[in-house]
Amino acid sequence: MVGGGVTGAGVARDLSLRGLSVLLLDKGDWGAGTTGSSSWMIHGGPRYLEFDWDTTRLSCLDAGHIVTIARNLVYRVVFIIPVLPHDRNNIERMETAMEVYDRFQPLKHAHPHRRLTAAEALQAEPGLTPDLIGAVTMEEWGVDPHRLVFANVQDAVAHGARALNHTRVTELIRDGGKVIGVRYHADGAISEARARVVVNATGPWSPKVGAMAGVAVQLRPAKGIHLVYPHRISNFSISAESIDGRDLLMVAHAGFTLLGTTDDDFYGDLDSVDVLEDEVEYLLQGFERVFPTIRNYRPVRTTTGVRPTLFKWRRYEDELSRRYEVIDHSRQGADGFITIAGGKLSMYRLMAEETSDAVCRKLGHQAPCTTATSPLPGNESDAEPAVELAARCGIPALAVLRLQSRHGSNAEKVLDEAGTSRILCRCEPITEAELVHASRHEHVRTLADAFRRVGIAAGPCAGAACIIRSAEVIGRELGWSATQKFDAARDFVRGSWLGRAPVLNHAGWAQEELAQGVMRGLTRNDGTR
Ligand SMILES: Cc1cc2nc3c(=O)[nH]c(=O)nc-3n(C[C@H](O)[C@H](O)[C@H](O)COP(=O)(O)OP(=O)(O)OC[C@H]3O[C@@H](n4cnc5c(N)ncnc54)[C@H](O)[C@@H]3O)c2cc1C
Repeated sequence: MVGGGVTGAGVARDLSLRGLSVLLLDKGDWGAGTTGSSSWMIHGGPRYLEFDWDTTRLSCLDAGHIVTIARNLVYRVVFIIPVLPHDRNNIERMETAMEVYDRFQPLKHAHPHRRLTAAEALQAEPGLTPDLIGAVTMEEWGVDPHRLVFANVQDAVAHGARALNHTRVTELIRDGGKVIGVRYHADGAISEARARVVVNATGPWSPKVGAMAGVAVQLRPAKGIHLVYPHRISNFSISAESIDGRDLLMVAHAGFTLLGTTDDDFYGDLDSVDVLEDEVEYLLQGFERVFPTIRNYRPVRTTTGVRPTLFKWRRYEDELSRRYEVIDHSRQGADGFITIAGGKLSMYRLMAEETSDAVCRKLGHQAPCTTATSPLPGNESDAEPAVELAARCGIPALAVLRLQSRHGSNAEKVLDEAGTSRILCRCEPITEAELVHASRHEHVRTLADAFRRVGIAAGPCAGAACIIRSAEVIGRELGWSATQKFDAARDFVRGSWLGRAPVLNHAGWAQEELAQGVMRGLTRNDGTR
């Protein structure tokens, strides 16, 4: 299995649960590709109803399964969709669309819409523009995609799979018309693995990996960005129309807000995708029309990713179908090689099921798929009430809630293992115990891996208050020297800088100076640098 985004991790889990022997490889970290830079939503996409009805239906259907097997990772996200005088859709059209979407909502255990008068909408969210005519509500699910991917990896490993992150597949091994394995690069060494079937689940990279087998995988990759605010701006998620009439979303997640997203054809280097100031301005311009004070809030960083959309000529990017395709390349002279391309996070499980069915057909393996009903790790039983666990362990209830949102009913084991109740950062209540656990059991090799697994440096300090301490904790577990700890912190600060620069205002620059100053101070004390 090549690619450890949500799709590849889902396929690895599915095949392991069916009793097959699986090797899962990712060149970076689990979920660090498109999956991690998504809008963090398990949604049906009412927008697609206009041109891609079946994607909405399948997404809602699979979302219903995902929210059942991953209860700790999901939460309800309630949207207010304000309607302004010159919007593309008037309030009647908007309500009609929602009435249609309501038919799908039971599939994903969500509630039907409500129509709000302007006064009701403003009462619910006073930050909305007083120019609005009315609004409708809509319910979706939020999810932590990094933890969703890792939960799939973890379950695959629990069922016998081997999973290696920071391991790049550099070549496919061929024997005439057959693909019989991969050559991969990790820790400076090249290794080989033989397999009866190789699955290409590399999202936007799938044409590149396809080319290793000599086959063409055609995508129309589309870049999207988000602004990340380290707190909630509203308790509701809010939609807006951009200058060119596309839908923008401000999504209220558990402790932070995402404002996005753009959708532009992408022709550049997938391993180096920059956020442009114009893209930031495009989002703010569109959003301030419905939420006039948006520029008063300070984003801490941006995210960017490239959608692995299936190829289609002529359509605008955001009108492209989000459907997926399982491609058996035997007819192209690469037997034993399967690509899963396109799709959405919201239906990753279904995509994984169909890909696994294709693998099993090739192998003549009969076991059925069980991923729609088998709980992901931490969901096998109910978690202890947060207040009780917090009192017993002597940490704030919020820290326990955050921990349970990542580990479900395993949160207590995570706390007990390290024997410390220290909180790592003042602005995000992350426990040192969780970081110790992640370093020991969750494939953390870098501070960026820990950001994805545990959320270090995700709060308002963006690492200024906690990155050195985190390097200490991880370094102690992984046996890093003082120099390695310093290098890890410096690499994290440098790496995250690229995502922050496009949104820094004067306060942001001041914080950046502080973080860089801490690193320079350490350099002087170290004496060798
Ligand atoms: C801005 C944006 C917002 C989105 N929001 C949503 C949303 O809210 N809800 C939703 O349902 N969908 C959303 N999507 C779509 C969704 O994120 C993607 O469809 C999905 O995450 C793709 O997952 P994937 O596993 O196929 O690809 P990826 O997550 O990109 O995973 C592919 C993996 O392959 C690895 N890889 C590549 N080459 C190699 C190699 N040679 N060797 C080893 N590994 C390799 C990469 O490192 C990467 O981790 C969004 C997309 C974008 C861009």
